[in-house]
Amino acid sequence: MTEEIVVIPGDGIGQEVVPAAREVLETVGDFDFVEARAGDHVLESEGAALPDETFDLAASADATLFGAAGESAADVIIPLRRAVDSFVNVRPAKAYPGVDALRPETDLVFLRENTEGVYGGHEQRLTEDLSTLTRVITDSASRRLARFACEYVEEGEWDGFTVAHKANVMRETDGRFKTAVEDVAGKRSVETDDALMDALAMNLCLFPEEYGVIVCPNLAGDMLSDLAAGLVGGLGLLPSANLGPDRGLFEPVHGTAPDIAGQGIANPSATILSAAMLLDSLGYGEESQAVHAAVEGVLADGPHTPDLGGDAATDEVTAAVIDRLD
Ligand code: ATP
Ligand code: MG
Repeated sequence: MTEEIVVIPGDGIGQEVVPAAREVLETVGDFDFVEARAGDHVLESEGAALPDETFDLAASADATLFGAAGESAADVIIPLRRAVDSFVNVRPAKAYPGVDALRPETDLVFLRENTEGVYGGHEQRLTEDLSTLTRVITDSASRRLARFACEYVEEGEWDGFTVAHKANVMRETDGRFKTAVEDVAGKRSVETDDALMDALAMNLCLFPEEYGVIVCPNLAGDMLSDLAAGLVGGLGLLPSANLGPDRGLFEPVHGTAPDIAGQGIANPSATILSAAMLLDSLGYGEESQAVHAAVEGVLADGPHTPDLGGDAATDEVTAAVIDRLD
């Protein structure tokens, strides 16, 4: 059976880096690609940034590759994550030889809870002076994330994982999160340690080499993974995967980059690495590793796009990656 991959370039440089990643996927596998539309340019013509048709395609395809959406980002990406029933956002942040990084020793993976916390909560304006937000943490979502984390570290041969939390202050919610995650890990004999998320932010800056896989509640994962992006030198490099039980949505961490859109100079690496994560989710582990190695080779030896100090175009970098795959 040929897997169906929905491809949603979106706005800005999404239009440049997603076709590049699709070319790489075409090089390593035989997939049915379905192009779908979303983003600001669709809002203008159709009145909705995420047409129902695109939502339905993502909800039924084997995997979806997404670029970026501009102003309409929240109206596109949040429903798309829901379309694939994503409960975890996997965000690797790794420094690569050949790329200037603040902390070249960084090799981290954030496993971020993707459904609740403060983002799954309810905000309310109660009076002229007072607004509140309910933070939602469930045992079931915490355990599901923990089971995923255990499998992830077992498969990747990591030593274990760190649980990020603030259970000393949010005793009920983060207390529940920490207890649930540690309980699941304990029963599976996966080693864990835990870290208060504020101290962890500092320690990641100072000693990133002391950490590996970090399991986080939603907001903490959002912030800490962006912090780690800063450590490894550039948004153009960071991929992510929103995984659900049956399918995933894969996207670069960066946005539409309006300052360079349309010039053909966007770095395609983050999206190609997202495609590598997509391959892995479909069971193409070898192909995924080959794509990863090809990107790593090009980052080490060039050519490089301007964000990495080079003068190569998106096309040239993509061709160099494909050359290494042939
Ligand atoms: P958005 O609102 O869509 O997130 P933004 O203005 O925040 O747009 P980002 O895409 O988040 O832009 O990018 C921030 C900066 O990083 C920009 O200067 C952009 O040019 C640069 N950048 C991001 N992604 C890439 C990439 N793939 N290649 C080169 N530069 C990039
Ligand atoms: Mg941005």
